[in-house]
Amino acid sequence: MSRTSKQICKDALETFGLEKQIDMCIEECAELQNALLKFRRGRAKLEDVQTEIADVQIMCEQMSIAFGEKQTIVEHGRKLQRLAIRIDEAIVKVKVKETAIKINEL
Ligand SMILES: [Mg+2]
Repeated sequence: MSRTSKQICKDALETFGLEKQIDMCIEECAELQNALLKFRRGRAKLEDVQTEIADVQIMCEQMSIAFGEKQTIVEHGRKLQRLAIRIDEAIVKVKVKETAIKINEL
């Protein structure tokens, strides 16, 4: 029987321990950071970034389990809503600016 993503993450935490997985999470975040910087400079491929994103997602799933999955899900939802509001505010600002430019051109 194949294990779920959550079960594999739990098994990783149990097998290697939280301290090592925290270190691994930090390491994977640094690798993603490096891949993104190299990608922006044209020195990394799309696949390099994708593999590092996957690594970070797996480590974040482990951290979520270790530090409180339910509260992490709540925070995720809250922060997504906050981002949606910021997007809407940015769109309004752009529209106001475009309108001001049109008025100035009259
Ligand atoms: Mg990696």
